[in-house]
Amino acid sequence: MSNAASEQYASPVPVLMHICCAPDATVPVLRLRGKGYEPIGFFYDPNIHPQAEYELRLRQARKLAHIQGFELLEGPYEPDHWLAATREFWKEPEGGLRCSRCFGVLLDMAARKAQELHVGFYTTTLFISPHKDVHVLEHIGREKGGLYGVTFLPEAFRKQDGFRQAVRLSKEYELYRQNYCGCIYSKLESDKWRAEHPNGTSWQRERRSTSTTGE
Ligand code: SF4
Repeated sequence: MSNAASEQYASPVPVLMHICCAPDATVPVLRLRGKGYEPIGFFYDPNIHPQAEYELRLRQARKLAHIQGFELLEGPYEPDHWLAATREFWKEPEGGLRCSRCFGVLLDMAARKAQELHVGFYTTTLFISPHKDVHVLEHIGREKGGLYGVTFLPEAFRKQDGFRQAVRLSKEYELYRQNYCGCIYSKLESDKWRAEHPNGTSWQRERRSTSTTGE
């Protein structure tokens, strides 16, 4: 345990961990514990479409919480709120301004929940995805943390082969791995990519943007 804010406190230090999906949470739970934190999972993902997919991913988060032994809190499913916040940028490709708005919705609620629970730190499992711009995530996370008086932890879960480890752990735990990020637009983009790359693998698709997203 080094260079962690938790060093100043008696361990383990609670941290609210926003969960985007169960596979992406596998490694963050282990890494946070390794640094002296105890994650409290928070599933808040109104971006996920359709509702059946949301419910499937939520069940997987519950399964992971049981396997790894962490507390899981569940936020409301409010897709209308998410659609209203991102509507302006619906035509943006994955990784663009639509995603920045999306991060804002998710992290605003996560920071608010951390404040409500009197948990001083919060972070998000979004950091492990090769599709996400870590610099944008960090900026928004800190901004929302400032609004609610909680400290955002920009944890580099993707480093040290984090994403590949998450894939391996997901298989070991028999977790469902989705083939699109979550929103209706990402589903349409993913379906299009698969139609154009009939022999492409999920791994190839996940890797296609890592050079621009901070890995
Ligand atoms: S692609 Fe993913 S991060 Fe971007 S807006 Fe859709 S759900 Fe959110």
